[in-house]
Amino acid sequence: MAGRRVVACEHCATLHERMPIESGAIATCTRCGYILYRQSGVSLQGWIALVVGALVIFAIANCFPIAWLKLQGLTVDASLPGALWMTWQQGHEVLAIMTGLFGFWLPLTQLLFLLWALMAIHARRLPSDFHYGLRFFHLVGSWSMIPVLMLGIMVAMVKFSGLATLTIGPALWAFAILTFLLTGLSRLTAHRLWGYAEDAGLVQVSGQDVFLDDPVASCGACGFVQNMPGSGTCFCHRCNARIHLRRPNAGSRVWALVIAAAIVYIPANILPVMRVRTAAGESAHTILGGVIELWQLGSWDLALIVFVASVVVPLTKLFALTVLMLNRNWRGRAIQRQRTRLYELIEFIGQWSMLDVFVVILMSAMADFPGVSQVIAGPGAASFGMVVILTMLAAMSYDPRRGWDQQPASQRLRTIQSPPHAGASHTVTGVTQS
Ligand SMILES: [Zn+2]
Ligand SMILES: [Zn+2]
Repeated sequence: MAGRRVVACEHCATLHERMPIESGAIATCTRCGYILYRQSGVSLQGWIALVVGALVIFAIANCFPIAWLKLQGLTVDASLPGALWMTWQQGHEVLAIMTGLFGFWLPLTQLLFLLWALMAIHARRLPSDFHYGLRFFHLVGSWSMIPVLMLGIMVAMVKFSGLATLTIGPALWAFAILTFLLTGLSRLTAHRLWGYAEDAGLVQVSGQDVFLDDPVASCGACGFVQNMPGSGTCFCHRCNARIHLRRPNAGSRVWALVIAAAIVYIPANILPVMRVRTAAGESAHTILGGVIELWQLGSWDLALIVFVASVVVPLTKLFALTVLMLNRNWRGRAIQRQRTRLYELIEFIGQWSMLDVFVVILMSAMADFPGVSQVIAGPGAASFGMVVILTMLAAMSYDPRRGWDQQPASQRLRTIQSPPHAGASHTVTGVTQS
């Protein structure tokens, strides 16, 4: 195996030999179709420039107002830090911490660690704590929710357009640009950064000394492929993270989290997510009430988006995870591939149900006209945020490899092919452990 670079599929554990592919191409798993790795046309310097640009835009997005609102002679400038501070002051500390982490601290941490790692690889000098940094970066990645926040800003602005005079601020444009930049940068995962470090000859190459006749496992944090002792658990030779052959107690963990999410989903829908206080009195609004209100305002498109994000997405996640947990018997490769696609969908839609929670805190910052009109977050918002966190944790605890384990792969050598939409077809010789 000397000189070989081995990559393990995260969804079915099939081992493939990592071969160079053309710029812009994607290498997919021969067995389940999941993306193994990409080859980007952007150079390391290009990525560094993009991250620096994103940090500047991030500063603009948080230092300037998203919008100015004018109502009966009063003016309010709404910004994200202002909205978080107001939510905290209103006594909704859990909600403020949750939205502050997902909309501010984690995206900022993600960008700073990305810049640090890229600059270290570019300088060809890795600091001694590089592996700790990348393990942390790997943890943070799925919890950074700027695109969801951007959609939340748009929904909040539409809800206000009829009630107050609204002037768009520079932060709105900054958030729009940041959404595009962070979506592009989200492709730079920890595994990919380790791949760049491998390319530069700075770290141990994955799978170099692996014996295919012995049990093989891959590190979830860095993608390193190594032999696994009989105990079923060991530490990664490259980043020192704990490696399990399969996620331990995955079944009971997923069930516990799905049941907890289903229970919290009830108060999230019954309790008001926000209260609107006007001179005429106070009214409470639930998630579904908000959808109906948007519909009545004439924004049927946004009403549909909020309905899908807040009702369809969490229910789909809970339902799909239950289907995956109950339907685990091997019914052929085609069915198993469909299950893998379903799991990919759960991972993809994961954070979008956070939309309404962002809308609530943004609206409380925008409608701060004491005595005239005020929006205050309700207990339903924090419950709803908990549903999102619990379902995301449930999806992360599920191990799609267990489904494929029931039918061990029959051949050792395979061919990797890029999907047609990659623009080019590549044939790469792979290795499959039987
Ligand atoms: Zn696979
Ligand atoms: Zn590792």
